[in-house]
Amino acid sequence: MTERQTPAIVLTVREYGEADLMVNFLTPGYGPLTGIAKHARKSRRRFAHCLEPLSRVVFFLSPRSGRDLEFLQKGELVKSFPALRRDLKRLGAAAILAEVAGLLAGPPEAYEEIFAALEEALGLLEQGLPPDSLLPAFLIHLLGLGGYRPRLHHCGVCGAEPAPPLAFSLPRGGMFCGACRSQAPGPLLPLSPGAWKLLRLAQDLPRDKLSRLRFPAPQRDQSLTIFKAFLRYHLGKDLKSWSFWDKVNRAPG
Ligand SMILES: [Zn+2]
Repeated sequence: MTERQTPAIVLTVREYGEADLMVNFLTPGYGPLTGIAKHARKSRRRFAHCLEPLSRVVFFLSPRSGRDLEFLQKGELVKSFPALRRDLKRLGAAAILAEVAGLLAGPPEAYEEIFAALEEALGLLEQGLPPDSLLPAFLIHLLGLGGYRPRLHHCGVCGAEPAPPLAFSLPRGGMFCGACRSQAPGPLLPLSPGAWKLLRLAQDLPRDKLSRLRFPAPQRDQSLTIFKAFLRYHLGKDLKSWSFWDKVNRAPG
């Protein structure tokens, strides 16, 4: 029987049993998968440098698909993104994007695009493009691919272009005018016109233009506050990677 092989981006790796590793990874063909790398803790040869979170690899899976669990036979490293790993801020942005891509990896027709978006974001972070701007731009792009596209263009009550003071409704995932906010389902978060315009632009741009956007610090922080609350509201939990980002951004320098 022939092995199946797939491009993959490693999301998480943890110990499993005595000698094995359990690996969550994202693929363009099957979305997010979980696989067991047998004896990978004792013999790393079959998976040389492949079992690091964020690595872009090719995994060889056992011939038959395990419905919930794949068996990884070996791996080959394609890209390890070493520069990204040396910079805590870039690493923090990459970790959030990878966690979101892994959680929102549906519907199946979007798997390929979600994989490509995450791979591109990691490549841009590796090249040294600013994480402060890439993170909100790629987050809104990924949310759209995963079926959580925020409705930014029209007010959810009057249908017109939303007029300030702007409010973002977490349950509705959309914008409301100041004048319409009493009819908007809460919780509501404020959004400045500057941040709103940048997010709207990021949502409208094709993926290969996202790296041109620049989010100044106030707009970045306001956008990320909304994404964090929006994801918490809809996923029912906080992203693990977000506390790392917050810690890195509080640190002096
Ligand atoms: Zn309105």
